[in-house]
Amino acid sequence: MKLYYNRTKIVATMGPASAPKDILLSMVKAGVNVCRLNFSHGKTEDHKKVIETIREINEQYKTNVAILADLQGPKIRIGLVKDGGIHLINGTRINITTNECIGDDNQIYITYETFPQDVKTNEIILLDDGKIQMRVLETNRKDTVICEVLHGGILTSRKGVNLPNTKVSIPSLTEEDLVNLHFALDNDVEWIGLSFVRDAGDITELKRVINSRNSAARVIAKIEKPEAIDNIDAIIAATDGVMVARGDLGVEMPLEQVPLLQKMIARKCRAASKPVIVATQMLESMITTPRPTRAEVNDVANSVLDGADAVMLSGETSVGEFPLIVIETMAKIVRDVEEFGYPFNTTQKQDNLDTNSPNYLSDAVCGSAVYLAEHTNAVGIVAMTTSGYTAFEISSYRPKASTYIFTSNRQLLNALSLVWGVRAFYYDQLESTDKTISDVNGMLKTEKLIQSGDVVINTASVPIVTQGKTNMLKVSVVE
Ligand code: PGA
Ligand code: MN
Repeated sequence: MKLYYNRTKIVATMGPASAPKDILLSMVKAGVNVCRLNFSHGKTEDHKKVIETIREINEQYKTNVAILADLQGPKIRIGLVKDGGIHLINGTRINITTNECIGDDNQIYITYETFPQDVKTNEIILLDDGKIQMRVLETNRKDTVICEVLHGGILTSRKGVNLPNTKVSIPSLTEEDLVNLHFALDNDVEWIGLSFVRDAGDITELKRVINSRNSAARVIAKIEKPEAIDNIDAIIAATDGVMVARGDLGVEMPLEQVPLLQKMIARKCRAASKPVIVATQMLESMITTPRPTRAEVNDVANSVLDGADAVMLSGETSVGEFPLIVIETMAKIVRDVEEFGYPFNTTQKQDNLDTNSPNYLSDAVCGSAVYLAEHTNAVGIVAMTTSGYTAFEISSYRPKASTYIFTSNRQLLNALSLVWGVRAFYYDQLESTDKTISDVNGMLKTEKLIQSGDVVINTASVPIVTQGKTNMLKVSVVE
């Protein structure tokens, strides 16, 4: 099977539109690298079925599609409302209550037990992605909050609530999240996303549970709250990867700040060698239309230029009418920008190595591999890794040469599908450095990824049997 390999990876959210195996397979062939299971929607059986389909495709077609299990986190919703929707009128008052009820013109239920204790007068309440806005007039600190409608509209059942000003006391990992997390770990997913992360402690807590299960799953911190922006450096240091979750971020922060926040987060993630996903509404109009808007094409292209490791689709692939055309469209935009607009300066990172890092020497070797590749016009940087460290590090330079990673760690093989530019292969013969290098280069030649006369850069850890940190660099011409 001939696959298209983009450098900037594509994450597709699974749902009824993409669950059938033939559709998912065609999406993978068109460029999907990571499938996202959104635990805010769908039943466990549905997620289980999708996991099985992805594993089958990986087995049958020798692909390394990764799974990202996205936990809902402390997402707040309103309850059911009567008559399929209530009309909220500007300037009127309405009660928000923690006593379960069917919402009407007087009161609506909120799924947040301690809301009346946590909220303060004048704080803003946003409903349905910010379409409806209210202001807190008063709270009885027990079960009811009296609000004034600032921007009204029709409110339907179970809509999301955002509280940009409120210090929300719900734990970051709710009971429901823990159930879903254990399900995800039982099924060996490679990545776990956590919504509404507020500080680094949220990530360490999640990692504690993952470690207690002896799982190698890696964590994506979804940045969608002002507090996460305040704590961004510590969160990036604690996590394995980040998502710029523009949907909720654009509700909780002024919308016009999102473009620069995206650039800031992408820059910091690249500096820290942590992958970053840009998410939400990238090709939104394609949920119902087979061609994107010009603004959407610009958005995908600019995210590639910002240095995103991956661009993500949500409703476009989970419930949209054109899941395959969406992937083809996104892959084409990514490919065109990568081919004609390579935007990265690899020397910037080489000049800023952290001499105090315990990995300083192997970081220096990785940086030198990229430097050498650039100055020899190498077609590939070929690296060995067990932990994955070298793969994340080399990728973070955004080398022009293709990055080929060989590993005996099967879990890592899929996990690296999220990481910019990386293509991973299984290899477990660690006898001597000479044999390994000749084997892996031979495999790439068989795959027609390199050919006679090409310059390649190999990195390794010597002696190879100890599987230590990357400490060796070799430049050679393919025979
Ligand atoms: P969600 O996260 O789709 O789970 O809400 C992404 C976002 O908020 O952008
Ligand atoms: Mn979100």
